[in-house]
Amino acid sequence: MTFQTHTGNRGLVLEEKLIFEQGEAGRSGVDLPDPAPVKSRLGGLARDENSEIGLPGLSEPQVVRHFTRLSQKNFGIDSGFFPLGSCTMKHNPRLNEKVARLPGIADLHPMQPESTVQGALELMDQCAHWLLVLTGMPAVAMSPASGAQGELCGMMAIRAALDARGENRRRVLVPESAHGTNPATAAACGFTVDSIPATADGRVDLAAFEAKLGDDVAGIMLTNPNTCGLFERDVRKIADLVHAAGGYFYCDGANFNAIVGRVRPADLGVDAMHINLHKTFSTPHGGGGPGSGPVVLSEALAAFGPLPYTARTKDGVVHLVEEEQADDFAEEHFGGKLQSFGRMTAFHGQMGMYTRALAYMMSHGADGLKQVAEDAVLNANYMLRSLEDVLDAPFADSGPCMHEALFSDKGMAEGFSTLDIAKGLIDEGYHPMTVYFPLVVHGAMLVEPTETESKAAMDEFIGALRSVAERAKAGDEALKSAPHHAPRRRLDETQAARKPVLVWKEPELPVAAE
Ligand SMILES: *Cc1c(COP(=O)(O)O)cnc(C)c1O
Repeated sequence: MTFQTHTGNRGLVLEEKLIFEQGEAGRSGVDLPDPAPVKSRLGGLARDENSEIGLPGLSEPQVVRHFTRLSQKNFGIDSGFFPLGSCTMKHNPRLNEKVARLPGIADLHPMQPESTVQGALELMDQCAHWLLVLTGMPAVAMSPASGAQGELCGMMAIRAALDARGENRRRVLVPESAHGTNPATAAACGFTVDSIPATADGRVDLAAFEAKLGDDVAGIMLTNPNTCGLFERDVRKIADLVHAAGGYFYCDGANFNAIVGRVRPADLGVDAMHINLHKTFSTPHGGGGPGSGPVVLSEALAAFGPLPYTARTKDGVVHLVEEEQADDFAEEHFGGKLQSFGRMTAFHGQMGMYTRALAYMMSHGADGLKQVAEDAVLNANYMLRSLEDVLDAPFADSGPCMHEALFSDKGMAEGFSTLDIAKGLIDEGYHPMTVYFPLVVHGAMLVEPTETESKAAMDEFIGALRSVAERAKAGDEALKSAPHHAPRRRLDETQAARKPVLVWKEPELPVAAE
C-alpha cells in the first residue's frame, strides 16, 4: 500500500514547482551593488512592479537544483533503452563529444577570417568527402540543419532545376508509407502531392506508381528503407521510370543507418537525399542537441544546391564559397556556372555535428560502418522474430525487416489499444516505441532497437513488452490507466498539447498497490 507523502515527493523523486513559483522578490544569485540610479531589469524582482521583464529571483543553489531535478525527470538515450522507431536513438560515443568540445572547434566564430579557420574548413570538407564516398554521389550540401530542412533543400534544388529547364512540373508522387515530412516538404515547396498506394507486403505499388507518371510530374519522394522497415525491392526500376518520365528521384535517407557501407544511393539512381547525421552518424538529437541534415546531389542537381559550400582549389586550400563569389569562383576553378537557389541557414551549418559525425566515421572505419548497418538490421530482426507470437506483425512474411520492426494492435482485448501498451512500457522503465506511425498500419508500433543495444538489453525489453502485450490481450484493466509509477498519470494528450496548464498543482494521490 502506498500513501500520500506530506511533501508530494516519492522516494528521492522530488516534485518540482515552476521556476517562477519558486522565485521571490529581492532574491538574487549575484552579490553586486545596485547599479543606481539605473533600475535593475534582471532577476531578483519577480512580480515586482519595478521588474520590467519579470525574471524569477533565485539564489544560485536554487537554480542548480531546479535544472538538475528537471534533467532527472527527462528520459534520454543516456538513461535507458529508447526504441523510438524512425528516430534511431542510438548511443552517442563519448569520443565524439570529447572531440567536439576541443576549444579550437567549440570556440570558433562563424565570422572568423578564412585564413584562421583552415582546420575547421578541412574538417567540414573531410566530413563532406566521406558522405560522398558512402553515398557514391558527386556533390553534397552540408548546411541544412535537420532532416526536414534537408528535404526542403533537395526539393528546392529540384524546383530550381525544373525552372532552369523552363518546365512547370508541379506534381510530386509520395508513397502512402512516407514519413510525414515528405508530403509537407513538397507542399511547402509549392508542389501538389499525389499519393501512391502500398501493396499488401508494405512496399510501393509499382503499377499504381507507373500509372501516375506524366509530363507534369516533378519527381518522387521515396523513403528507402521505407517506414514499414522494408527495403524497396523495385527501387532501381522506380528511379528509371521517373527519370524516363523527365522527373527527379528524391530519396528520404533518414534511415541510412540500415544500409550504410552496404548500399550506395548513387547506384539506386537517387538525385537528392538527405542524411541525418543525428541518426546514422550518432550525433545527439531530440532533447540532446541540434540536428544536421546534409543533402547529397546527383550530377543533374549539383549546380542548383545551396550556398555556401566548401571547395578545395588546386593549391590544396579549402574555401568557403559565399554568394558574392560563387559564380566567379565556379567559373575560375571549375569552369562552370552555379545556379544556386540561395541559402538554407545563416552561417555554414552545425559545426559540432560535423565534428561528431566525422569522429564517428573515422573511429568506425569502413568495416565498422558496414557493421553498423548489419547490426542494426540483425537487432531489428531479433525483435521481430522474438515478439511476432505475441504481437501482430503485419509484414512478418515480407522477408527480413531492415532496421526497425513493425507491429499492429490486432488481437488485443476489446477496448485496448496501442496507447495502452505504450503507457504500460513507461511503468516498466522504457521509453515507448513510435506509435500510430506509419499510417498504413492500424495502431502501428514501430520498434527500432539500433545497433548499439546488446542482446541482453534487448532480451530485457522483449520480456517487458511481452508482459505488457499479454496484459493487453488478457484485458487487464489496470493497463488502461497506466502509467502508475511515473511522476504523472495518464494525460489527455490532445489537451496537454493544446491547452497546457503551466502552473504547479498538488500531485495526484498515487494509486494503491496491493
Ligand atoms: C527523422 C526522419 C525525418 C526528419 O528528420 P528531422 O531531422 O527530424 O527533421 C524524415 N524522414 C524520416 C524517414 C525520418 O526518420
